[in-house]
Amino acid sequence: MGRNKRSKKRDYGAGHVPLDMTRLASVSRTVSRYDGQYTVRTGLIARKIYICPGCGQSISLGQQHVVAWREGSIMGARADLESRRHWHTACWQRGLRPLN
Ligand SMILES: [Zn+2]
Repeated sequence: MGRNKRSKKRDYGAGHVPLDMTRLASVSRTVSRYDGQYTVRTGLIARKIYICPGCGQSISLGQQHVVAWREGSIMGARADLESRRHWHTACWQRGLRPLN
C-alpha cells in the first residue's frame, strides 16, 4: 500500500564483525554423568530464586550457580534446553541426583 521505496541500501560489506562468542559465556561445556551427557554452564548469577534439584534448598538471588541440562533426549534439543535445572555449584560437583 503506502510503502516508501527505499532506494538506498545500507552497506554491510566492509566491516563485517564476527559474533563475539566470549560475550555469550559463562563457560559452557559437556560432561558425562550417571544418566547421560549434560551441557553445563557455570558461573551464572541467579536472577530469581531457584530450587536446587540436588538438595531441595533454594539458590538465593545473586548467587553463582550451575545450570545443567541433558543432551540428546528423544524430545530434541529444545526440550533438552527447557528441562534445564539450576544447581548449587557444590551440589552439582558432588554429583547429586535430582530428588525428583
Ligand atoms: Zn543444592
